Amino acid sequence: METALSNIEVLSPGARAVARCDIFGKPPYSETPAMLTRRFLTPAHPAAIASLQRWMRKADMSVTLDPLGNLIGRYEGNTAGAPALVIGSHIDTVRDAGRYDGALGVMLGLSCIEQLAAAKRRLPFAIELVAFGDEEGSRFPSAMIGSRAMAGLISDYASIAALEDEDGVMLADALERFGLDPSSMSGTARAPESVLAYLEAHIEQGPQLEAEDLALGVVTGIAAQLRFRVSFTGTAGHAGTTPMGLRQDALACAAEAILAIEEMARQQAVHGAVATVGSIDAKPGAANVIAGETGMSLDIRALDGTLRDEMARHMMSCIADIAARRNVGVEFEQLQDLPPSPCDPALSGLLEEALGEMGLPPFRLASGAGHDAAALAAIAPMAMLFIRCAGGISHNPAEAVDPADADLAVEAMLRFIDRLEASTA
Ligand SMILES: [Zn+2]
Repeated sequence: METALSNIEVLSPGARAVARCDIFGKPPYSETPAMLTRRFLTPAHPAAIASLQRWMRKADMSVTLDPLGNLIGRYEGNTAGAPALVIGSHIDTVRDAGRYDGALGVMLGLSCIEQLAAAKRRLPFAIELVAFGDEEGSRFPSAMIGSRAMAGLISDYASIAALEDEDGVMLADALERFGLDPSSMSGTARAPESVLAYLEAHIEQGPQLEAEDLALGVVTGIAAQLRFRVSFTGTAGHAGTTPMGLRQDALACAAEAILAIEEMARQQAVHGAVATVGSIDAKPGAANVIAGETGMSLDIRALDGTLRDEMARHMMSCIADIAARRNVGVEFEQLQDLPPSPCDPALSGLLEEALGEMGLPPFRLASGAGHDAAALAAIAPMAMLFIRCAGGISHNPAEAVDPADADLAVEAMLRFIDRLEASTA
């Protein structure tokens, strides 16, 4: 089952990408042998960079490491210095991760460029393969640092430098230990005119493609997110002596609110909207005490930002009605507001044409999860290709991708490059 580094060249391009992800699943590419964890700027990160660098150079790419540790391999076009199609994804992982989230997108891009280099084919644009160092935010309390910096979306580098990991190590110090100069972080930003387009291939991290019995899907956009903390205040009381009609039960109120939220989100399911209460706590938290205070999370996502905001307003007013009827106080605190990132219709159209040429239905789906592509959309037209993953499972060591699906992904990406060439001619 195990594929050694020396044997991967005989594999098909997609199987090679999968095998490389498998190789990256263990030390030195993981911080620990017990599970896959490869966080930003830990020793597993330069190990991954070293191997990627070797593979990139072998495929005729020139390699640079930008000031935030994003690895960039550039496959030059017909003319030197031409704007680039950037193919990217992230090589950091969550703790106890699967092997394909992020890494597969980088390895699929590598396989594509290896095919072009083997055929000695040059295009009217350069192709750059980017392995972002931080997407997950699993080390420092901020996500997508690499891609947000590249897209020029970070204005306050001092606060990025001062971020601390759980051991109290500052990001600036971690960069320095890595051999990078924290004072040049702002140099990570790319000139928008140097990026022709951005393409990211990523495992779906959900079950839709599998349910449709499809290997690939074209992403319509990355959902807008809103996150709240909802706090209910009732009155704590004796579970044995307080009659049912005289209670101000904060936990029962939250329970009714959760079911109402679920029902409201179900009514918008046709539009791909979702809402989740994933965390709840009750105080004082004893079997014989009516809960006086309950706090819960509320996460609302939809591709359409207006729909998301309407859902949020409707949910807040329904929750307020439920609380009023139960004589319980309620407060909403907004914690996060991420705008939607629609994929570029023309660029996505090229992906759909590529799938059509391959005899595959151009199935479209929205991404409920955030990706580096959301940041890059700020400086270039962006498209995303999703690859089926077994059971829709992700952020879990059980993540699995069929190498045959990965082969189809490489073919689709190469056909996309052909069509991009035709469209820029
Ligand atoms: Zn990812």
